[in-house]
Amino acid sequence: MIPTIALHNGTTIPQLGFGTWLVSQDEAEDVVGRALEVGYRHIDTAQGYGNEKGVGAAVAASGIDRGELFLTSKLNNDKHAPADVRASFEQTLEDLRTDYLDLFLIHWPLPTRYDGDFTSTWEAMVELLGDGRLRAAGVSNFEPAHLEKIIADTGVTPAVNQIESHPYFPNRLTSEWSLRRGIAVEAWGPLGQGKVLGDPVIRELAEELGKSDAQVILRWHIQRGTIVFPKSVSTERMRQNLELFDFELTARQISRIDALDQGSAGRVGPHPDLFDMV
Ligand code: NAD
Repeated sequence: MIPTIALHNGTTIPQLGFGTWLVSQDEAEDVVGRALEVGYRHIDTAQGYGNEKGVGAAVAASGIDRGELFLTSKLNNDKHAPADVRASFEQTLEDLRTDYLDLFLIHWPLPTRYDGDFTSTWEAMVELLGDGRLRAAGVSNFEPAHLEKIIADTGVTPAVNQIESHPYFPNRLTSEWSLRRGIAVEAWGPLGQGKVLGDPVIRELAEELGKSDAQVILRWHIQRGTIVFPKSVSTERMRQNLELFDFELTARQISRIDALDQGSAGRVGPHPDLFDMV
């Protein structure tokens, strides 16, 4: 059974889902179809991944009741102008072949673009909540200063902040800041995009537990209360990444993984203050 995390708007999100970055439009129907078949019910996509139509085709072909699924997408970086937000959201609904989205995120804050104005983008996201087609609005890659600004400017707190987080860069400051404000934290790149696999400490713990490196890392996220959606195109690894609920890490094992934190040097992605790709 996959645990759920409560969002501040009264909805819940499965703590474990399936990521789709680098899954192409052509492969998405097959890959996401297999993920649904092995048991994933929470799918993370983005307009920028260029695979929403394939994800929508997989969802439609699965025959799974829409109410059993949790679908997340993200506003593309070239759609921050408030007038573009609704149209692109509607395109996402059409491509995903759904009447509503469970969660829609601003993908990146882009503080050096759009005259530094991400507040009006956030206002346009919040407006989408009005007609029942969006259940929860959130952000991604927002640092505390970005969060503070949109909350102060609009009085509306995002339900979720999706940030880079893994043992080499747990992103503690942003994570703790978000949680203190009632914002659920999602970890992107939970395996450090593969870079944390094979780490000697992770290897040792995996052998001790009779689990794979990926399972040990994902279990560490689960015990921290973080929402994760690892990505794999292999059915065997998809299955493995779901099998996290028949073992537990001890406090000692958790602190050994905590000690792998390299601070900002451990990032696999760009710093949100600097990232400006549109
Ligand atoms: P990840 O940490 O999930 O790592 C994926 C890599 O790990 C792949 O190369 C995969 O082959 C390998 N892998 C997965 N399971 C494995 C296993 N059991 N054994 C061995 N290798 C395994 O990285 P990710 O895909 O970048 O992150 C997960 C999801 O987060 C993405 O798919 C996407 O949905 C989301 N994401 C969001 C942002 C953002 O800016 N918001 C950025 C990157 C990713």
